Amino acid sequence: MKNRDYTPLLAELAEAYARRSPRSRALHEQAIRYMVDGGSHTLRLVQPFPPRIAAAHGAWLTDEDGHRILDFWQGHLANVLGHNPAVVTSTLARAFADGFGLQTGFTDRLQVEVAELLCQRTGAERVRFTTSGTLATMYAIMLARAFTGRDRVLKVGGGWHGGQPWALKGINFQATSGFQHLESDGLPATVADEVIVTRFNDPDALRDVFRQQGDRLACFIVEPFIGVGGFMPATHDYLHTARTLTHQYGTVLILDEVIAGFRFRAGDLGALYGIRPDLATFGKIIGGGMPVAAVAGRAEIMELAGGRAGGGRVKFSGGTYSAHPASMLAAKTCLTYLVQHEADIYPRLGALGEQARQTIRAAFAEEGIPVHLTGTGHDLALHSSMFMLHFPYAPTAPLNNPEDLFDPAVCDTTLSHKMLDLALLVEDVFVLHSHGGVSTEHTAADIEFLGEACRRAARRIKPYL
Ligand code: PMP
Repeated sequence: MKNRDYTPLLAELAEAYARRSPRSRALHEQAIRYMVDGGSHTLRLVQPFPPRIAAAHGAWLTDEDGHRILDFWQGHLANVLGHNPAVVTSTLARAFADGFGLQTGFTDRLQVEVAELLCQRTGAERVRFTTSGTLATMYAIMLARAFTGRDRVLKVGGGWHGGQPWALKGINFQATSGFQHLESDGLPATVADEVIVTRFNDPDALRDVFRQQGDRLACFIVEPFIGVGGFMPATHDYLHTARTLTHQYGTVLILDEVIAGFRFRAGDLGALYGIRPDLATFGKIIGGGMPVAAVAGRAEIMELAGGRAGGGRVKFSGGTYSAHPASMLAAKTCLTYLVQHEADIYPRLGALGEQARQTIRAAFAEEGIPVHLTGTGHDLALHSSMFMLHFPYAPTAPLNNPEDLFDPAVCDTTLSHKMLDLALLVEDVFVLHSHGGVSTEHTAADIEFLGEACRRAARRIKPYL
């Protein structure tokens, strides 16, 4: 680890940004009078203040100051068809004009159709919708605990499954404890012991945990392509070891597909590994831009939430906006479109994603800045449209799991998490924490624009390394 002082760079960037964005700045000053830190999602609150977005079409945003910004964040990676795709907005506009869409509180045909589609595309036997990925993982864990009668939840270090109690351990790397600490005050005291954190893509570590406490593990929740934790696909060996061990010990395997679902194919990613989980969670892309999430899986487990077979043992009974009609209409429209155009969309997304990764790598290399790009898939997780930048201190450092990528002694996380977003934003490119993905609306010209922005950002950063 080198001692890099970014204070002058940060001041330079913040000044350049403030100069060009007076309206966003004024709105931020207003915002902090009413909202915690001036917004409702901490990650979105780019420092010193976030750009306030006024319009968004396809790959591009327009902010309140009139800048056109090329966006790779794309709605937390939900907007795989780009922002406000006509196929979804025109369907919603017609429905609203006909007086359909906001009459929440009933059941309708649409949610049946979306549920059927999800089951067909993922091999799940039952689906229940909810409104966020966070709720989906929480309910999946409750179902697993009730089904097994066990208390322990196994997850991987760096794995983000939303802000619910069982998911709030082992997310951010700390020099002293790695991924072994709680992330929040106010959690039930049991979480510290009940949640066990293992290492992503390390089958030996998984075997050890199961050998020691497999008969106490209610579930293993893991992403087939780890998102926030580093944008890396699980290896074939890892997921198959997970499936074998969970079978052997009667533990519920939950694949969290909130990012991966419908991102690599028009269905779950687990299928490409030949893995059928007991439960899977979906969100983001499945909503077509609206707040839709789902738990999907084996009938025997899912029915614990139902009044018929399960006696409503698990209170996954729904909320005001569950299967909201306008959301279901957006979901149906988006999923149907993805299924119909699957053969065209996914190879194109993958090719553009690869072009983005290569372009970024080349831009930083030109300035002599070693950058490690994750997001690349492999022979099973083909067509990855995502990228994440990491800046290792030593070019030969092994970077195979979140423990390497997020250790500030190994990679310059200040650069990737604090400096780069702003350095790119002043070049009209939006990424968050150095990660992003392409949508169907990004073009080769957009990737060139990204490359130019990276080159200019690299030039600005270089003197501080
Ligand atoms: N699981 C994964 C893998 C996620 O990436 C996220 C969100 N980034 C969640 C769950 C939580 O989803 P939400 O933000 O919709 O609550």
